[in-house]
Amino acid sequence: MCYAIPGRVKEIRDKYVLVDYFGEEKKALNEFYDIAVGDYICAQGGFVIKKVKEDEAKEILSAWQELFFELQDVDLRLSRMDSGKEDSDKKLRLILDKALENIPLKKDELLYLLDLDNPQSCQLLYKSANFLRQKYHKNSCCIHGIIEISNYCRRQCTYCGISTHNKSLSRYRMAAEEIIETSVEAVEKYGFQALVLQSGEDPGYSVDEIAEIITEIKKKVPVLICISFGEIGLEGLEKLYSAGARAILMRFETSNPKIYARIHPGQELNSRLEHIKKAFSLGYLIATGALIGLPGQSNEDIINDIYLAKKLGAEMYSFGPFLPHPKTPLGNFKVPSEELALKTLALARIIDSESAKILVTTALETLCSAARKEGLLAGANSLMLNVTPVKYRKLYAIYPNKANNKELISTQIKEAVSLLKSLGRAPTDLGVSETKAG
Ligand code: SAH
Repeated sequence: MCYAIPGRVKEIRDKYVLVDYFGEEKKALNEFYDIAVGDYICAQGGFVIKKVKEDEAKEILSAWQELFFELQDVDLRLSRMDSGKEDSDKKLRLILDKALENIPLKKDELLYLLDLDNPQSCQLLYKSANFLRQKYHKNSCCIHGIIEISNYCRRQCTYCGISTHNKSLSRYRMAAEEIIETSVEAVEKYGFQALVLQSGEDPGYSVDEIAEIITEIKKKVPVLICISFGEIGLEGLEKLYSAGARAILMRFETSNPKIYARIHPGQELNSRLEHIKKAFSLGYLIATGALIGLPGQSNEDIINDIYLAKKLGAEMYSFGPFLPHPKTPLGNFKVPSEELALKTLALARIIDSESAKILVTTALETLCSAARKEGLLAGANSLMLNVTPVKYRKLYAIYPNKANNKELISTQIKEAVSLLKSLGRAPTDLGVSETKAG
């Protein structure tokens, strides 16, 4: 994001560079630049995004130096576990002690956590997840931008407000130039380094057209492009990778094949999973996850969802509540509780403590306005800001009253950065930790 901190290259190993950030070492894949030891770079999700001139890098680093350590202190204070505070639930204590030691929990223990309903117990779970987040990820929090390029969709997903069920929705499709301009502005004016391009499954763009758009954006600005267009075909994934896309946001929605088939008429879970697996094998970073609170979904299903995201090699976990849309067949279904969504984030952190980037989704922010802060204090460490031109935002109505439908990008950035500062988080994506990547 705008405050991304450049790091100094310490070592070069084949296509990888080892980068120093205030004493922490991270590893990033360098595909495009001529880089020497001592150079400064910015990385996103483990990819080198750009080289930064030495003067410029030193200026940013000196501006950050003091603040960075101050923020780390605030984060450390907020993520400490209070010792000695007795909780009557001994079983909960025992399970969480195991989690804090990073000992894998058994399924029945995870279920016990997901079933918690006493607010104090839930708070203890969130605190433990936050402790693990701090332990393995320090205070870095990545902020991506999302551009919703079209709300046309050929699918009949029974929960989604831009599916074919919603006959009264005005449809829009951004033109190629508009997508490119919006992306360039997001990078140059607002400082984003990672952008998600998302749409319904819109036959109005061919994969080749999308590939050209991505190539053009990559030519104009240094940015990590994440695609989110649904099932574009395995060949389509290859084409967009060649065009420069390096991440994909594709939820499997539910790991339960029966529920999947019920809510996606004519579709199969396997086909969606094939796409995610293929993307992983091509080298895309995977952002995936599921809907929380689907009809017929059990707490065990939710735990299986987290396991599946991990198995698919998720770099980022995207789990958000299902919010019924009145113009869809599931319009009268009930909204899940905020607690269930927060417990899911906390469990994702416990199940994949060391690797997971966990997103606070816009759906959770829509469900509860304090969710961004609460999610970040329950194990999450990633946010997404909506950089779609304001005139289209309310038309990308996957569920009603979507959060950040009107806020200017500058306002969203100001709010996000001020929240992060209050929590001691630095809006950075420092890439993959050297110890983890090996
Ligand atoms: N065509 C893309 C993007 C779909 S919309 C794709 O297939 O991946 C992005 C996400 O919105 C979906 O993956 C789904 O999980 C979520 N979504 C759709 N309807 C929703 C609803 N009613 N409540 C909450 N999230 C919803």
